[in-house]
Amino acid sequence: MPDKSADPRITRLTAEKRPAVRYAILFVVALCLLLLTIQSSDAWRARADRLKEVGVGTTNMSHALAAQGESAVRVVDTVLAGVVERVETDGLRGPLGSDNSRLHQHLKNMVAQVEELHGLFVFGADGSWLMTSLDRTPLHNNADRDYFTYHATHTDRGVHLGKPVRSRSTGAWVLPVSRRLDNPDGSFAGVALGTIRIEYFSKLYESFNVGREGVIFLALDDGTLVYRHPHSEKLIGTDISNGPVYRMYREQGPAGTAMLRSNIDKIERLYSYRHLETYPLIVATAQSRDEILREWWHSTLTQAGITAVAIVLLLLFGGRLVRQIMIRDRLEHELVQARETLQQHNRELAVLADHDGLTGIANRRRFEEALQQEAGRAARSGAPLSLVLFDVDYFKRFNDTYGHVEGDACLRRVADALRASLARPADLAARYGGEEFVALLPDTDAAGARMVAERIRAAVMALDIPHAGNGPGIVTISAGVHTLAGGEAADTAALVERADVLLYQAKQSGRNQVCGGDYAAA
Ligand code: GH3
Ligand code: MG
Ligand code: MG
Repeated sequence: MPDKSADPRITRLTAEKRPAVRYAILFVVALCLLLLTIQSSDAWRARADRLKEVGVGTTNMSHALAAQGESAVRVVDTVLAGVVERVETDGLRGPLGSDNSRLHQHLKNMVAQVEELHGLFVFGADGSWLMTSLDRTPLHNNADRDYFTYHATHTDRGVHLGKPVRSRSTGAWVLPVSRRLDNPDGSFAGVALGTIRIEYFSKLYESFNVGREGVIFLALDDGTLVYRHPHSEKLIGTDISNGPVYRMYREQGPAGTAMLRSNIDKIERLYSYRHLETYPLIVATAQSRDEILREWWHSTLTQAGITAVAIVLLLLFGGRLVRQIMIRDRLEHELVQARETLQQHNRELAVLADHDGLTGIANRRRFEEALQQEAGRAARSGAPLSLVLFDVDYFKRFNDTYGHVEGDACLRRVADALRASLARPADLAARYGGEEFVALLPDTDAAGARMVAERIRAAVMALDIPHAGNGPGIVTISAGVHTLAGGEAADTAALVERADVLLYQAKQSGRNQVCGGDYAAA
């Protein structure tokens, strides 16, 4: 079996098919990548949208809470300013004297009417209680409270927000809002204090939905926590100035939004904070990142699952497609190989059908075919067509003397000599049968044919094959030559017959000679 892979046509064909497989793989992979890209960019965009949306929500909420905080403090501050004005103008002539009963009633009314107000108090310069909204004056002294010390040591008349404290009179957590009272000479006369119930903020903040891990807080400028939702009493009053919100506040100013990790519970949240316009307070609201993205995760995972199934299907079908292309490739390859083999066999058969098995030159069948073709062509073109028919002399004796094997070898050498004597590509050497051969010479006139015949005769003699039974002692041939003149009707039978007659004549005339053809011209 010949090595087909060496056949350049087959190598070329398989090389041409391989790109189809490569393109199919590339196509499937590209499609998978495209799906993944679309899916992940969609998910990413949805995530960004979700964070943005919640960011807008928390920003709005912090604005609303800041406005609410502002108005809560303002109400208390306004009430307080009224008290200050009244005490400084009318004076207090003694602790809870009858002249003060109207002011006492006024304070009581204010606390009853203003929901956020926990209590209203007026202290003297020594920290003693001058007036309260309570029914009974407490016995303790409040000169140790921060707000009292602040006003005793600061002359400014502005409002002061103190650290949240637990009320000594009621036990409730309160945010102290205070103003300084001055004597007419400007010296320290005491403090007017309004306290805001921290419960007021806790009720409000609890009404907002910030999720289970969400946070809302209110803190003083200095970082003291006033209230944090969800409620935890031990956090009230703690310092959160080193926390992430205050860091951002110091960097970005009165308002901001960012994803930060809490110092208190280490949860990452989207924080929005805002500083109150007038008062030293910051309000912040935050939602946990995990809670914000929970739904997004859910839908993203669902979509990722669908995409994964699509990709698996695509890979399965793609793999099948690639396998089919490869099978088709292999089949085509095999088909090409089979066709090549068939063609090779056909060529071999054609050679066998046209050639003589012993000598390798054209056989009688091929000669007849060529004779018909050339005779037709000669008739059409007007060119002459010559035929040399020759026969080995006394070949029966050669066989008898040297045996058939030597006889066969002799015939092969004669055929070789014949073939070598024909110069033109159109000339045909053929074995006519037995020890008879022909040379068909298209476009060759009688003179040329004679010359060729003599050349063949000389070539056979030159082989110098011993032949004891032949006159010259070596193998010789006799030949008959006939030529159809140009334009003559293509009578091929007559051409062969005539050459045969001339061959017979050559035999009769003593063998080893040529009869026919234009001797003179040769
Ligand atoms: P002539 O000079 O008159 O042609 O005498 P001849 O003996 O050659 O004539 P004949 O036609 O009587 O003999 C032809 C012989 O050629 C007969 C046969 O033994 C021999 N022959 C024919 N074909 C082959 C062949 O294929 N191989 C061998 N070895 N001999 C063959
Ligand atoms: Mg013969
Ligand atoms: Mg013979």
